[in-house]
Amino acid sequence: MQKRALLYEGKAKRLFLTDDENLVISEFKDDLTAFNGEKKSSEAGKGALNNKISTELFKLLEANGIPTHFVEMLDDNHMLHTKVDVILIEVIVRNIATGSLSKNLGIEDGKVLPFTLVEFDYKDDDLGDPKLNDQHALILELVEHQDELDKLRRMARQVNDILKPYFAKKGLNLVDFKLEFGKDRNNNIILIDEISPDNCRFWDMETGEKMDKDRFRQGLGGLKVAYEKVLERILEK
Ligand code: 5GP
Repeated sequence: MQKRALLYEGKAKRLFLTDDENLVISEFKDDLTAFNGEKKSSEAGKGALNNKISTELFKLLEANGIPTHFVEMLDDNHMLHTKVDVILIEVIVRNIATGSLSKNLGIEDGKVLPFTLVEFDYKDDDLGDPKLNDQHALILELVEHQDELDKLRRMARQVNDILKPYFAKKGLNLVDFKLEFGKDRNNNIILIDEISPDNCRFWDMETGEKMDKDRFRQGLGGLKVAYEKVLERILEK
């Protein structure tokens, strides 16, 4: 499958049309951004690592009944996937408090939450991705019905129920992550975007080491090595 016209360029990926109107190609970039684009850098090989990690995780989720946009990995930096209408809601799933949850609500960093928290952020860079409740989402017409919001939450919890024990077996705590969803041509809601250390937090269960984009956000260094270790653990049988 060949890349055709550039459809959209985001912070971490470029999206290209193909000769099939139902399929598009994502090119995973090496660019790194944080704090709504205020902090920028680049790390050679980061895009390929995220493409490989996402490929493995989409395959795992598909095998466990989660519909995703994944079709195939074309090469190191390119993924072929279904074209969707993107739902402009970032679905955040949290098992352990850190990041904006600790900052906004004063919950102790590292506190294991009594239950898995699912939150919605409005996917809008100009507004800084503000928090949404269900009424906001309906007023903004980000979905058609309450049922769809319920479905996003249900699917996000199912993803967590698959990924959390999967990573625990590999010695990684799945602290939190961000999911995105879209509607395919049959109006089915499917999981899209990527699942990688750019949008998940992983803490090593033994050392507590951060193995994700917080290494860049917090200026800790060693980002690529951490992403490589995440991929290695995923590929370990
Ligand atoms: P927080 O709200 O604590 O900043 O992020 C919670 C989780 O969602 C983290 O795993 C973080 O990586 C992910 N996340 C939230 N918003 C975004 C975003 O706009 N882009 C990316 N790549 N990840 C996000």
